[in-house]
Amino acid sequence: MSQLKASTTVVINSIAQSKKAAGIRVYNLSVGEPKMVTPQVVRDAACAFIQNGDIPYPSPAGLPKLRDLACGWMNKNYKTDYVQNECIVTTGGKFAIYLLLQYLCGKSSSIKENPNDIIDVIVPAPYWVSYPAITKIMDANPIVINTKESNGWKLTPEELKAASTKNSKILMLNNGVNPTGTIYTRAEMQALMNTANELDLIVISDEVYSGLVYSGDEYVSCGSFPEYKDKTIIVQSMSKSFSMTGWRIGYIFANKEIIDVMSALSTQSTTGVSLIAQYGAIAAFENAEAINSSINQTMKDRRDEFVRAYKKHFGKDIENPKATLYVFASLESLGVKGLTDEEFCIRALEEVNVASVPGSSFGQPGYVRFSYGSDIEDLDGGLESLAKFIKSL
Ligand code: PMP
Repeated sequence: MSQLKASTTVVINSIAQSKKAAGIRVYNLSVGEPKMVTPQVVRDAACAFIQNGDIPYPSPAGLPKLRDLACGWMNKNYKTDYVQNECIVTTGGKFAIYLLLQYLCGKSSSIKENPNDIIDVIVPAPYWVSYPAITKIMDANPIVINTKESNGWKLTPEELKAASTKNSKILMLNNGVNPTGTIYTRAEMQALMNTANELDLIVISDEVYSGLVYSGDEYVSCGSFPEYKDKTIIVQSMSKSFSMTGWRIGYIFANKEIIDVMSALSTQSTTGVSLIAQYGAIAAFENAEAINSSINQTMKDRRDEFVRAYKKHFGKDIENPKATLYVFASLESLGVKGLTDEEFCIRALEEVNVASVPGSSFGQPGYVRFSYGSDIEDLDGGLESLAKFIKSL
C-alpha cells in the first residue's frame, strides 16, 4: 500500500475545507459531481422503503427489478442488448472498477495464462486518477498512453497498437473523458474496438458520463458493438446522469460468467448495495427521461456560463466542451508562466480562493482541470478572480 500517497487533490481539498470553516467564500471549480439535489421522487421512494421498516440484507447482485430497469435504460439509450443476468448493481462506478480489476488481475483470473503473470492494463492519459491507482493496488501494471491535445485527447488505434505488450490484457477506456470532456464518434470507437480485438484485449469501458453530452452528438457505448460483446465490460453509474453521487449506485454490464464472479466477490465484500439506495434507484429509472434531461440541461447551462465568463474575463474564446463537467486548459493558454500546475492550483486557492485540480493528478502536467458542475454563481466570480490573479503573477 506504500504507493498510496496523499495527492495534491487531497491537499487542495483540505485547504478549501479549512477556508470554508473560517467563513471564507471559496469558488469551487474543482468538484467532480453535478451539484444538484437528488430528484424528489428518488428521495420519496427511499423514505417510503425506510418507513416500511423491513430492511434486510440485499441480494448480492442487486434487486432483480433494478437490474431489469438498468438493462432497459442502457438498451433504450445506447443501443445495447443486456438482460438481467448480464448486469450487477455495485457500490458506485468506482467499486465496479475495483471489483473488475480485483478479479481480472488476480490469481484466479480467467484471462491469465499463468496465475503468477502480472497483467498490463492499458490506460490512456489524461486519465481518471483511480485507474492507475486501483491497477497498482491489484499488483498489476498500468501502461499509460499519452494522448494528444492536437487530436482532441483521443486514443488512436495506432497508439494502442504501439503501446500494447505481451502481457497487455485490458484496455481501460473512458468515454466522456474525465478530465478532458472528450467523446468518441462511432467510427473512432469502431476502429478502437477492432484494434482492441486484434490485440486480444478486454475492454473495460467507463461510461459514467454518458448522460452529460451537450453537443447533440451520439454517445457511443462500447456495449453497442455486438460482435465484441463478450469481451466488453461496461461500467455505469447513477452519480452523474441522475445526480446521485452520495447514493453510491453503479453497475457492471458484462457476460454472465463475469457477472457471476462479481456477485460472488460481493458476497465476500459488501454483501451488496444498501436496499435504501436501490429503492431510490428504481424510482430514478422509472422517471429517467425527465431526470436525465433536466440534469443535462442544468449542466449545459453551467457549461455555457463557464464559456461566457471565460471570454468575459480572459478576453478569448475556449472551445465549447462537448461532454462531462470539465474544461482542461494548459497553463500556456491561461497565460501562466513560471509555475507548475500544482503550484498554480495551490496558489490560486490560497491567494484568491479558487479551487481547481492540477493536470498532474490526471497524468498530464502543465494543465489544469476546471469543473463547471458546481453552483452557477461560482463560475463568473471564480473566473474573474482567477484572471486577476494570473495578471498579478
Ligand atoms: N469514472 C470516472 C471517470 C469518474 O470521474 C468517476 C467519479 N468522479 C467515477 C468513475 C466514479 O463514479 P461513482 O463511483 O460515483 O459512480
